[in-house]
Amino acid sequence: MGIIKLKRLENNNAPELTLNKLQLEMIDLINQKIESGEYQFEDTECPICHHKNRDLIGEKDRYGLYFPTNICLTCGIWYTSPRMTQLSYNKFYNNEQKKLYVGIEEPTESYFLRQKRKGKKIYDFLQKNNILNPDSSYVLEVGCAAGGIIDFFREKGAKVKGIDLGEQYIDYGRNLHGLDLEVGTLKSLSNSKKPDLIIYSHVLEHILDVNAEIELIKHFSSDNTIIYIEVPGIKEIHKNYDMNILKYLQNSHTFHFTLESLINLMSTHGFELIKGNQYVRSTFKLTNRVLPLQNDHDQVVKYIKRIEKGRLIPLPNRAYRTVFEKLFLKF
Ligand SMILES: [Zn+2]
Repeated sequence: MGIIKLKRLENNNAPELTLNKLQLEMIDLINQKIESGEYQFEDTECPICHHKNRDLIGEKDRYGLYFPTNICLTCGIWYTSPRMTQLSYNKFYNNEQKKLYVGIEEPTESYFLRQKRKGKKIYDFLQKNNILNPDSSYVLEVGCAAGGIIDFFREKGAKVKGIDLGEQYIDYGRNLHGLDLEVGTLKSLSNSKKPDLIIYSHVLEHILDVNAEIELIKHFSSDNTIIYIEVPGIKEIHKNYDMNILKYLQNSHTFHFTLESLINLMSTHGFELIKGNQYVRSTFKLTNRVLPLQNDHDQVVKYIKRIEKGRLIPLPNRAYRTVFEKLFLKF
């Protein structure tokens, strides 16, 4: 399977999304900071194979920002390289990220309720798969923002705690909803009680040293702890991103997963999959079994080539889309 660098993903500053005034201001600001050297970039390697044997897929994200995406030739995981350094990302998260991504300045009640609906979806996924009885559990969420997700679990009877780096969001959930939230990361967590459930919802793909993070998860896990990981799945770009890879790519993501590449990464740290899908919603637990890596490269390249063609085929309604998915996108 050959090189898949996509011409329409070249670094030309053109955004794929329709953006408001605040978002356009943020993009200008970020580009100025890149140009002045305030935001710095570093080269990196595959987090699973630990080498740089890779192909370049594209060079920009949905905002038109410089964002080189690579695929590892040995295992198929996608990762950003060169990527912003941790120091630059910290500044970006404090200054521009939420304004650029949400298009609003403050945490609001409608944002909180959106998170809460996500909490219900996670709860339903766990219930449907008989994975956990969340009613009497201790649930920890890493990267909880204002805490809407764990608020849903609290209503179901769970004891909950959330941590996040965004102070504004922590204050909102703490003060307006009385949630037990803390500014920080797993590393700085004061409470060492091992949770029954640890939630990472749209967080893992933002973390630079993902291997160190998973080691920390391991440190905070008992044999019975369930790890729930939700990340945007590459193999459902056709469903969740209008079959448009450019809508999927965003500069705060340092990794991009399929269910297979997430399983590979987790297995290198001694975790095995309990249940998962390509959305990606997944649950893991510790295991003693040594699991072989599965190379996802050819499948994911085939998938991207097909959705790139699929974008150009008129699919007038849901029925046509379903037929297309069944014929071309089942792997
Ligand atoms: Zn690799």
